[in-house]
Amino acid sequence: MTIRPNRPIETSLMSTYSRSGLAFVRGKGVWLFDKKGKMFLDLASGIAVNSLGHSHPKLVKVLADQGSKLWHTSNLYTVPNQEKLAQLLTKNTFADKVFFTNSGAESVECAIKIARRFFFSRGQSSRNRIISFDGSFHGRTMGTISAAGSKKLLEGFGPKLPGFDLVKKLSLDRVEKKISKRTCAILVEPILGEGGIVSLPCSFLKGLKKLCKKYKLLLIFDEVQSGIGRSGHFLSHESCKVTPDIVALAKGLGNGFPIGACLATEEVANSMVPGTHGSTYGGNPLGCAVAIETIKHILKPEFLSTIRRKGDFFKERLHGLLEMFPEQILDVRGRGLMLGLKCVSKNVHLIDMCRREKLLLVPGASNTVRILPPLTITYKEIKEAIIRLERALLEMRKFNE
Ligand SMILES: *Cc1c(COP(=O)(O)O)cnc(C)c1O
Repeated sequence: MTIRPNRPIETSLMSTYSRSGLAFVRGKGVWLFDKKGKMFLDLASGIAVNSLGHSHPKLVKVLADQGSKLWHTSNLYTVPNQEKLAQLLTKNTFADKVFFTNSGAESVECAIKIARRFFFSRGQSSRNRIISFDGSFHGRTMGTISAAGSKKLLEGFGPKLPGFDLVKKLSLDRVEKKISKRTCAILVEPILGEGGIVSLPCSFLKGLKKLCKKYKLLLIFDEVQSGIGRSGHFLSHESCKVTPDIVALAKGLGNGFPIGACLATEEVANSMVPGTHGSTYGGNPLGCAVAIETIKHILKPEFLSTIRRKGDFFKERLHGLLEMFPEQILDVRGRGLMLGLKCVSKNVHLIDMCRREKLLLVPGASNTVRILPPLTITYKEIKEAIIRLERALLEMRKFNE
């Protein structure tokens, strides 16, 4: 079944993505428009990025206002927006300190560096190994592909960076067996995103915390995808009442303006003294202005509880589709507005069929389709999404008959 819209034949871009020929020129809320004015319902939000939807009027305004004042000064000076955003983040999370980056991978890199530096500063520089999990995704830098450890990410890019011990199963026993005198931290996504929307049980996260306490390790959560309200909590681990030492953020933070952050407790962050880390663009005034406005909106308790309710509603409707199409859907996963469908036939078939219905989705590992709509999606729009999904599934059924 090859029903992908044709790709442009001539391109000067590297072929790192198998892009669709679809091109959008405008967006509003959960809707994207191509140049002919065709409207697509966006259940992808980039990939969990446009948390408040496209062209949110308030965000357009703060970006334009900041853009007319000042774009960049470097981190040699105080950046008032950075201070403000950091305060918002620390006041509303476990963290005491923040380092700003431009992407998720950079936030995870920063987390890795902090963990190692923390033990170095205590005279334990041989404690530098990090336990990570098979099926994870942490970004595309050498450090983060080495952390995730999968062949798919690493192939052709050797040598892999040392210092990561991969646990093959989400099992606390396996984790404990991997811990050695040289272990400094455990790195995990509380909800695996790229890996196919796998929400780790609170008992597992609590178990990891217990192991960290027992062996004096740091707990690093990669919340690049699951953070910033996506799960219905500002950071997804909050629902489990487990406190990490370091958290990596990006995606939803800037609503599409590239900005990431690495959060840490004071004790851990103290090892990052002048000269130990840096970023030319990190925390620039434009990104911070947008992020302040974005998270102010998301942090409202009623906004977060609405995400949980909408997520439950969406999930219930998806279960309805599973009952109608058991030959196509194996499982409904996730929480909040970070949802996934495990497919029977190739996930890209469903994604392609949905594109024909002008509904946008994202593929994930283990044959899942990810549903990551703007957090501002309405009940009406969720119902519309279900109608389009149902039409796509019916078409697939016809096709298979
Ligand atoms: C997307 C993602 C990253 C990488 O973010 P980039 O901005 O692409 O570097 C890291 N970790 C997780 C969990 C992600 O989903």
